Amino acid sequence: MGSSNQQVRVRFAPSPTGYLHIGSARTAFFNWLFARKTGGNLILRIEDTDMARHMEESLNSLTSSLKWLGISWDEGYDAEGGFGPYRQSQRKDIYQQYAHTLIAQGKAYPCFCSPESLKVQRQDLEKQGKTFKYDRKCLSLDPGQAAANISQGMPYAVRLRLPDSQTISFKDTVYGDISVNTDNLDDFVILRSNGLPTYNFSAAVDDALMKITHVIRGEDHLSNTPKQILVYMMLGFDLPQFTHLPMILGSDGHKLSKRHGSVSIEAYQEQGILPEAILNYLALLGWTPPREQDIFSIQRLIDLFEIEDINKKPARFDFEKLLWVNSNWIRSMETGQLAEFIVKEVKQKIDKPAALNNWEKDLNLKSEAIAPLIRERIKTLSETMDWIRPFFEKVSYSQEAMAFFDLKKVDAAQVLKATLAMLDSLTDFNSGQIETSLRQKAQELEVGFRNFMAVIRVALWGTNISPPLFKTMEILGKDLTTYRLSQYLETLASRS
Ligand code: GLU
Repeated sequence: MGSSNQQVRVRFAPSPTGYLHIGSARTAFFNWLFARKTGGNLILRIEDTDMARHMEESLNSLTSSLKWLGISWDEGYDAEGGFGPYRQSQRKDIYQQYAHTLIAQGKAYPCFCSPESLKVQRQDLEKQGKTFKYDRKCLSLDPGQAAANISQGMPYAVRLRLPDSQTISFKDTVYGDISVNTDNLDDFVILRSNGLPTYNFSAAVDDALMKITHVIRGEDHLSNTPKQILVYMMLGFDLPQFTHLPMILGSDGHKLSKRHGSVSIEAYQEQGILPEAILNYLALLGWTPPREQDIFSIQRLIDLFEIEDINKKPARFDFEKLLWVNSNWIRSMETGQLAEFIVKEVKQKIDKPAALNNWEKDLNLKSEAIAPLIRERIKTLSETMDWIRPFFEKVSYSQEAMAFFDLKKVDAAQVLKATLAMLDSLTDFNSGQIETSLRQKAQELEVGFRNFMAVIRVALWGTNISPPLFKTMEILGKDLTTYRLSQYLETLASRS
């Protein structure tokens, strides 16, 4: 087992089959946290021996998601660290060499059984309600015959010859003592007839050669671990410490999948979730912080994280909670940082900001002023435009907006006229002054202030939801505010 004074080496070993999944991101993050906590190294190993097409695309998407999250690696396919290559597709010779060493030592043997015949055997057994176990037909093959088969070019796989009736035990950090008797396993294939290794063989060989001290991965691999331990034992390698992370379930208690909504980090990025919020939330999936608290800075997570505190109870992925964590993170964004995002969004989503003359300069100033108004209101960054469009775009009034005040028994025209007259006399167009004067006006007219402001809101925003109005008016400026109030007044008049 990895001893405590040894430098920690952990790995994240994805098979690039597409985007980075929430579950894999949590595995990567827990490895990263553990490495950062212990001053160890995180290795990014690419398990790509089986990959057909689209490998590079998947790899790019995976690594860019990791980078976006801020999960950095110390060694990997793009950062040589003395234990490479880090792509399994470039290590085929290594696996073949170890497999043949095992054959030479009598710990593995070539198997000439065709996949078709094995399939038939498997189906027959399953029909009888039994589980398939390789019958060791080729183990009893005369060595001379085996050698002849090989030299004739007959395809063969390599199987590990398991010791009989031996108990394989290990202590998983999370799941505790686990034992499996080799009688319940079969001589599994380590090298396929196409020369490529199976996952259990290549993972164990690489973990050993890359001097991995702690294997931290999903619970779905728990049943593979005894097989990998057998590979370690047969090759005479020291075992790492194994830590399996509990499953992540969807809200209905089933394994998290696309059925439950987005499961890729890319999708959450597009939905305007902050990377810090994702990491913060992922940390809570399977790990219980020492105190009742949910919002953690990444540094705090590094400080508090203890691998022993991971629990085995499956975690439930709760999108509402992620949104809540995200809104907390948005609230703590610096004004400048949010303003920068607003500038980018406006440039991307609005053709020509109509309300802005000197628009580049104006946009920066406006965004700085707008950021504090929406920071507490948005749960994801992608809600931003819903709140701020009318700062940059013309407003138009829907039938609904036009009819809004019919029901409310408010004389909208009266409110608008009074406000226009009042605005005209205002010397200093700031939110404080605006508020005082509007309150005064409402009192004079004996209109409830909520109703009074509702008229102004629809006039300025075209809807009855907007950022705080006095500040909004200040940012729009006197001219544009006046223009919109008159425009709404005219529209109402033309209707009656
Ligand atoms: N390539 C495997 C996977 O993505 C790695 C499992 C492991 O960490 O050993 O599931």
